[in-house]
Amino acid sequence: RRKAQMDIFEILESEVRTYCRTWDTVFERASGSTLYSEDGRDYLDFFSGAGALNYGHNNPDLLRPLVEYLLSGAIVHSLDMKTVAKRRFLETFHELILRPRNYDYKVMFPGPTGTNSVEAALKLARKVTGRTHIVSFTNAFHGMTLGSLSVTGNSMKREGAGVPLTNTSSMPYDGFLDGEAADFLWLRRALQDSGSGVDKPAAVIVETVQGEGGLRAARASWLRGLAELCHQHGILLIVDDVQAGCGRTGTFFSFEDAGITPDIVCLSKSISGFGLPLSLTIFKPELDIWKPGEHNGTFRGHNPAFVTGTAALEHYWQDRRLESKVAGLASQLHEGLSQIAARTEGARVRGRGLLAGIYYPDHEVAGKISVEAFARGLLVETSGPDGEVIKTMPALTIEPGDLLKGLDILADAAESVTG
Ligand code: PMP
Repeated sequence: RRKAQMDIFEILESEVRTYCRTWDTVFERASGSTLYSEDGRDYLDFFSGAGALNYGHNNPDLLRPLVEYLLSGAIVHSLDMKTVAKRRFLETFHELILRPRNYDYKVMFPGPTGTNSVEAALKLARKVTGRTHIVSFTNAFHGMTLGSLSVTGNSMKREGAGVPLTNTSSMPYDGFLDGEAADFLWLRRALQDSGSGVDKPAAVIVETVQGEGGLRAARASWLRGLAELCHQHGILLIVDDVQAGCGRTGTFFSFEDAGITPDIVCLSKSISGFGLPLSLTIFKPELDIWKPGEHNGTFRGHNPAFVTGTAALEHYWQDRRLESKVAGLASQLHEGLSQIAARTEGARVRGRGLLAGIYYPDHEVAGKISVEAFARGLLVETSGPDGEVIKTMPALTIEPGDLLKGLDILADAAESVTG
């Protein structure tokens, strides 16, 4: 029967427009940082739903309130109506996240996924400034819908659009940790030279760590320089915190340590905490010029996601509870990755917090390590334009023993590839 079930996936892949990740098994259950396949194997999860499962699978702190909520005859779908679950989420987000950080942001629910949040940010920036041009960065990833794709720096993904994507330009993302000092010359020239033919941008959109683009992590000073330049020229700064946010880098927002206050911030993935679709676009109150209904959608704000999102904030972000735990895990992770990287010439650790990995100069290596890791019971992805970086993203709630076990498997897998 199992064989027959696998064959159905093969048929699906040949007849339906879908693709399965290269992990050739059928998963059945999951708990914490472990996934179980139907053939009885278990896998440690260093993938975490590409960042949607920062608190692990079926976290009981979130599952319990969700089940109670659903059994209480509560509202699941409500569109734009006011609900108790929405109010609780908004209050909690304000009290535990915005207020302690002195952030004055308005919150909107632009749709179910990360790309919806980016689309809303781009639209809002254009409407507020009356300008169309958006500056983005090489190797950036912002989503697959047309607006988000137009600011995504990945040729293969852009080709999916079938036509040239306009009104954007890509700046070198040169502010990563082991990079050269950045002076934003390209942007400065465009802004100061009125004969340059470059339209003054409405906004700059940036990730503090390029989750899909190779785990380059911007230096805090680079982010501050960028924020200052934007501010001087009346250009809105959008931080896409869809992947790096919600605690992944150690603080709730990935830009907190840099001391910048973006004009618009995109959040999704782990904002519901449970893998349920929810996204937020938060922006400075003076940008709130949309009339009611100018940006809407049927699945904006999902009540079960509000319930788990509220529980996640209460359990993990009250008094910044999770921060020191993530810092401890992150130093363990970086230490383990450094030891693995040290065995290969030119290999380097990249990333920040629990969004970290190893860059390999031979671009085939990371993919091979991922395959070997899977064979040994570890799910770990690759990142970067050529998949040249092995990318680890364990849950922020992973047991330290599981983190070490995963690192051991990774070391073993890397050794089997690099010798
Ligand atoms: N922004 C960033 C930084 C992302 O990493 C992603 C998803 N990988 C997106 C936007 C798009 O999110 P979604 O896939 O939920 O539309």
